[in-house]
Amino acid sequence: MQTYRLTRDIQVEEDFDVLVAGGGPAGSAAAICAARLGAKVLLAEATGCLGGMGTSGLVSTFGPVSDGKRMLVGGFMRELVLSMHQRGSLGPHVVPEFLHSQLNRWVPFRPEELKRLLDEMAQDAGVEVRFFTRVIDAEAKDKRVEGAIISNVEGYRFIRAKTFIDATGDAALADLAGAECRVILRDIEAVAPSTLCSLFAGMNWGDPAYGDAISMRPTRSKGRLRDYRRSRRARLCNSNSRSSPRTATRNRQSQLAARWEGTALNPSHLS
Ligand SMILES: Cc1cc2nc3c(=O)[nH]c(=O)nc-3n(C[C@H](O)[C@H](O)[C@H](O)COP(=O)(O)OP(=O)(O)OC[C@H]3O[C@@H](n4cnc5c(N)ncnc54)[C@H](O)[C@@H]3O)c2cc1C
Repeated sequence: MQTYRLTRDIQVEEDFDVLVAGGGPAGSAAAICAARLGAKVLLAEATGCLGGMGTSGLVSTFGPVSDGKRMLVGGFMRELVLSMHQRGSLGPHVVPEFLHSQLNRWVPFRPEELKRLLDEMAQDAGVEVRFFTRVIDAEAKDKRVEGAIISNVEGYRFIRAKTFIDATGDAALADLAGAECRVILRDIEAVAPSTLCSLFAGMNWGDPAYGDAISMRPTRSKGRLRDYRRSRRARLCNSNSRSSPRTATRNRQSQLAARWEGTALNPSHLS
């Protein structure tokens, strides 16, 4: 394989106490909590919103956070769930009693409202968020990260900070800084199996076939919903996983095609 040595003089920014790479649930919590404690925080997020898999990945349910009697989480997560509830951003069955006792079940939320809430919390805390900004490299010496290179439409920047937090979901910054990591397709072949997350609107909630539609089980009636879990497309790997860009692009295209077919439901499901 031919290689090319990249040498560039790039602008340095060194005003930050903390650089957080990735603004998913982990990175948002880390950045907001650090800023509330007085740290000057830069949060670099590759996409155009906070929330990671919970928003841009449409994984729009909070996992169980209760033992069936009381809520077991505190801190940022508790604040987030309670704020989402106050805003009416959780599922319609999440009444106050359910909220405090029954959160040992999966609780659906509206991803667009989580994006907005995280934006507000980050702004209120004074986090400097940069969307469409990817951490692409790092400098480390004696097992200590000295700086990270970010890339966005302004070009490359070298960010110096006292602390670096890898919240990329892929350990991307840790890997770039030389920590021991096993990377899909480089060190291991197995890729996570696919889950196709989609949102459907305009459903006819009174249609008895709705239960089948939401669980994606094959319906008994001919010509209704297809079982995407069994289709070839649904088994392709998740496009957010760290596969090669070519594979990820092909998977993304197939998933979007499958999603499009999924909307071609029998019209009786639509109100
Ligand atoms: C298919 C699937 C279904 C799931 N279902 C559920 C569920 O129902 N309920 C539940 O609670 N959990 C669920 N999970 C788990 C949950 O999504 C994860 O635990 C959670 O998203 C992890 O958060 P995170 O912040 O660590 O990473 P992520 O959510 O992956 O966020 C990482 C963020 O970093 C950004 N990023 C990545 N690389 C870079 C880079 N180099 N520079 C800058 N930014 C970068 C990404 O754009 C992303 O915004 C599911 C996960 C998957 C994959």
